[in-house]
Amino acid sequence: MLETSLKILKKINETGYQAYIVGGFVRDYLLGNTSQDVDICTSATPKELRSIFSDAYLPHEEYGSVTLVLHQVRFEITTFRKELKYEHNRKPVEIRYIDSLEEDLLRRDFTINTLCMDQDGNIIDLLNGRQDLQKGIIQTVGDSTLKFTEDSLRILRAIRFATSLNFKLSEEVIAAIQTTKHFLKGLSYQRKKDELDRIFLSPNVTYGVSLLITFGLDEILEIPKLGSITSFDDLMGVWAMLEVDDRYPFTKNERDLMKEIRNVYPCNVLDPMVLYQHKLYVCSVVGRLKGIDPKKIAQKYVDLPIHLRTDINITAQGICQILNKSPGPFLKEVYVMLEECILKGDLINQREKIVAYLQSFSSES
Ligand code: ATP
Ligand code: MG
Repeated sequence: MLETSLKILKKINETGYQAYIVGGFVRDYLLGNTSQDVDICTSATPKELRSIFSDAYLPHEEYGSVTLVLHQVRFEITTFRKELKYEHNRKPVEIRYIDSLEEDLLRRDFTINTLCMDQDGNIIDLLNGRQDLQKGIIQTVGDSTLKFTEDSLRILRAIRFATSLNFKLSEEVIAAIQTTKHFLKGLSYQRKKDELDRIFLSPNVTYGVSLLITFGLDEILEIPKLGSITSFDDLMGVWAMLEVDDRYPFTKNERDLMKEIRNVYPCNVLDPMVLYQHKLYVCSVVGRLKGIDPKKIAQKYVDLPIHLRTDINITAQGICQILNKSPGPFLKEVYVMLEECILKGDLINQREKIVAYLQSFSSES
């Protein structure tokens, strides 16, 4: 990744433009962590980048940023810019391309995200990012209140980075979150959810959640049930317990899944009937939320005498013959009864046993 990134920088540099790796990749590199993608900043405009990489596949260009995919790695190449105007405490609505790296770094969110690397692998640290990285501190570039007022997403990013890196928020950031947090109400639910997902998925989630609650962001983000969640082992399980399906964006499948998780929650997921009806995935999610060993649930599921109605060793035709009836809605009732008896262990799933059971049943009635 680093090698390819440096090649890209060289290629841009050769045409006379400045280019640096910036942000997450440099931060994670210095911490010894791996990155998913690479951000590059440059004095070349998107149009110039298109001619420099004329042989490359550039899937899209958005807001002066060009995405390059090489060896399955995404490179986000962004032209140095100054953000001139923000609207509704969210995205900048007006930008100007500039020539100065330092000025570009000043518009960024946190000092640890301003570290750069040049084509020779040298670290460039114009805004004291390295010191904060060593101290483990999330500090804004310039005035925190101004940064969070310009773009309230940065509040959630601060908490997300603190969580994933296990860093402290600076005193100034803490104070600024208190005074600007209400701006988060104007942020789209999608953007709030993207950051919350990353906090919930972090191995350090309990710290992130404690920060959210300390700042009262559970109220502001309309997730008041956050404080009552005891296990964060499954992302869908967490959202199901938060019960915010009507506000936050989810797919139809996710909504159905969350409803089912909530329905199953009061049940015993080790009960064969519950496992059979709701299947392993949902029962495991509920199990994880309740702190039940997933291996125990998986074993119980494997041990079920049947997993599907078609596993019952008798056909619909067979049932009709024994009961001397033509096919009709009664069949469903018979199946439900057979499933229950087999799962409770009252009936063995063998054809002769089932026939005998149905015969006794038909002679009784
Ligand atoms: P990761 O990719 O691990 O989420 P990152 O720091 O690379 O972390 P990106 O969202 O990829 O984060 O953004 C790249 C860089 O752009 C950041 O490091 C930061 O310098 C800048 N940046 C991103 N979002 C903002 C923002 N909302 N306000 C100011 N600067 C930002
Ligand atoms: Mg990144």
